[in-house]
Amino acid sequence: MMARPTPYLDELNPAQREAVENLDGPVLMLAGAGTGKTKALTARIVHLLNMNKARPNEILAVTFTNKAAKEMKTRVGNMLGHQIEGMPWLGTFHAICVKLLRRHAELVGLKSNFAILDTDDQLRLLKQLVTAAGIDDKRWPARQLASLIDGWKNRALTPEKLPAADAGAYNHRGGELYAQYQARLKQLNACDFGDLLLHMVTIFQDHPDVLAQYQRWFRYILVDEYQDTNVAQYLWLRLLAQGHKNICCVGDDDQSIYGWRGAEVGNILRFEKDFPGAHVVRLEQNYRSTGNILAAASNVIRGNENRLGKELWTEADMGEKVRLIGHWDGEEEARWVGEEVEAMQRGTRGMGRKSLDDMAILVRASHQMRAFEDRFLTIGLPYRVIGGPRFYERMEIRDAMAYFRVVVSPEDDLAFERIVNTPKRGLGNVAQQKIQTCARNNGVSLLEGARILLEEKGIGGKGAKELGVLLDDIDRWRRQSVVPTVEVALDDDAVIDDGLTVEATRVQDGQPELSHIELAQVILDESGYTAMWQNDKTPEAPGRLENLKELVKALETFDNLQGFLEHVSLVLDNASEDAEEKVTIMTLHAAKGLEFPAVFLPGWEDGLFPSQRSMDENGLKGLEEERRLAYVGITRAEEICTISFAGNRRVFGQWQSQMPSRFIDELSEENVEVLTPPGLYGHQGGGSGGFSSGLEAKAAEANVYNSPGWKRMQARSGTYGMSQPKESKAAAIDMTAVSSFTIGDRVFHQKFGYGAVTEIEGDKLTVDFEKAGEKKVVARFVTAPDD
Ligand code: ATP
Ligand code: MG
Repeated sequence: MMARPTPYLDELNPAQREAVENLDGPVLMLAGAGTGKTKALTARIVHLLNMNKARPNEILAVTFTNKAAKEMKTRVGNMLGHQIEGMPWLGTFHAICVKLLRRHAELVGLKSNFAILDTDDQLRLLKQLVTAAGIDDKRWPARQLASLIDGWKNRALTPEKLPAADAGAYNHRGGELYAQYQARLKQLNACDFGDLLLHMVTIFQDHPDVLAQYQRWFRYILVDEYQDTNVAQYLWLRLLAQGHKNICCVGDDDQSIYGWRGAEVGNILRFEKDFPGAHVVRLEQNYRSTGNILAAASNVIRGNENRLGKELWTEADMGEKVRLIGHWDGEEEARWVGEEVEAMQRGTRGMGRKSLDDMAILVRASHQMRAFEDRFLTIGLPYRVIGGPRFYERMEIRDAMAYFRVVVSPEDDLAFERIVNTPKRGLGNVAQQKIQTCARNNGVSLLEGARILLEEKGIGGKGAKELGVLLDDIDRWRRQSVVPTVEVALDDDAVIDDGLTVEATRVQDGQPELSHIELAQVILDESGYTAMWQNDKTPEAPGRLENLKELVKALETFDNLQGFLEHVSLVLDNASEDAEEKVTIMTLHAAKGLEFPAVFLPGWEDGLFPSQRSMDENGLKGLEEERRLAYVGITRAEEICTISFAGNRRVFGQWQSQMPSRFIDELSEENVEVLTPPGLYGHQGGGSGGFSSGLEAKAAEANVYNSPGWKRMQARSGTYGMSQPKESKAAAIDMTAVSSFTIGDRVFHQKFGYGAVTEIEGDKLTVDFEKAGEKKVVARFVTAPDD
């Protein structure tokens, strides 16, 4: 046989080639950041296809984010030289499990059109159960129960398998409420995120025939970021890999940063035991970062005791030193970063011009983003936030989606609740209560409950009439969306779609009355939802109508509504991509696996980073996970890495003075340059922030300048790198922007929704938001409510 060309192998070093060319049997690639693990994994897929070892639909490849999956797909196509017809099983654990669960939903008591709840819905449901159980939600917040349940699901524990110690959590009611919650989800024909994996593990464990089918089907399994798999994911993979035993996992124990979400770094260390004879490949050459960046990162991670320990090297130049700078407060820090970004964009920092797309600001906690967003909005710097409230979380979008959900799955009570009186149909609390009761008494969904209530004339007047109209509308929309089913004969090896429904004899074929795009428009118009915003006179209304148009437009890339709804629930970690250059703001956690020429790492202060909470809750383990996060952060940078800290920061409305992060002390001195912020002194008037008293400011000042880290930094560099407080800062309240709100006012915010003002300070409001909790917002970003 003629040897096939393998140009993609020429791009790899010998160790990578070893991992790529050993196609059969278990392979573990264990290596540090930027050593080309993901690149090698991608090349391995290409090699499998090129060598005809498997068809694209027989390869199971797991990535950590949807974005990574998309990129990998494109790269495979590019390396192969032609686009592949699709790899249906390349995706995140969740995306893959949704597909599988749709096929086998009945085995866990669901129908294949089950809905996937978001965290909002999940919490609402839990609150109902907690209240019904007579538990004081103030003392025992439902949120706490939600996180316990998530934790159990991550450990693959169904209510039946829950150990007694766990079941006793949450005031001795945890286990009981977990069971009730699962039962309720079944009634609703819904599942939450954790269920996607948990149900699949349960199905594989209880139905060996189903498992065997997939063990045969998936000839090759590949997993990126293996160090961050949790127990459920691990079990799922191990079950599937027992078939052909062709599993290749890549990871880095130093980048395990999801321990708090149940990830077990032990999974990677156990690999050789689970798969005897595994081929272990280590990579040591880093291709991403300059010498200074790599050395600084390596020195930080050396502080961890619990690690395998690997040394990385690079052929790259030493490059710029890691830049370190201290600021007076968080607002100054944001202002400075904004200026640096603009300077780099202009190329005036002597490091060459950078596109905004080349720059990222990576924060430890999402509340840090606000200062940067505000600053960038003010100076008109385009930015994208990854991992924050976005398009699909806006009120009008959630309302519209709830309409779609009811049409796709009529049992979706949470969606029905959201739309039944939006727009207003004269169905207030009393009427809704009646619907609830009727549904409960008859053991049916709210939609059916409403139907029975109408028939029994349980409500009257305008409400009854409009409810009748709504129910008729929903019936009609459903009819219009149905794809006709036809009988087809299949020969033995007929393969449909992704190859697994070989036994199907009835398939959906033909066209529904309306395409899903037409249907979406029809639903929004006929329900009166579009009109509701057209008649609305608030300044936001035009924007909301724009968003709804955008929503219908988004449907075009999907085959049907259900696929779209799935996409939205799964892809919330994806930022909307458009052509304009933008600087990225995201959390360190979300940045895993990514790389940027220039990276800003703000907020390196003890308590914020390392996070106090993580240290309090998990002691040394928590601190080590934080340190790995620091390592992940620094190693995202290719050429320029800038670390900063602020002496003072407002955290949840309280001014606090901060010590520079202990990780700053762990940066190797010879790789760091301490910067002096030029001209920051008293520049650009107008206060953001502001101390309530000069005393507090002094105390904060003393604190920072006396901190060991700070002293070391001074001694080290001989520079006085921190920006000084401005004279006016102690009383800095920008009087031009004093807000017109008073305490107790109900307000609306684009991102956080409705809330009540609890504190006013200049142009800043503290608002207790109904959904988002207490937040500080700039007054001009909130409006008087519009309902
Ligand atoms: P992380 O641990 O951060 O996920 P990684 O080990 O997955 O990193 P990759 O993202 O695959 O590393 O590669 C890092 C960079 O190095 C990429 O820009 C990649 O294209 C480049 N690279 C990887 N291998 C090679 C190679 N053999 N020759 C040249 N460049 C390479
Ligand atoms: Mg990677």
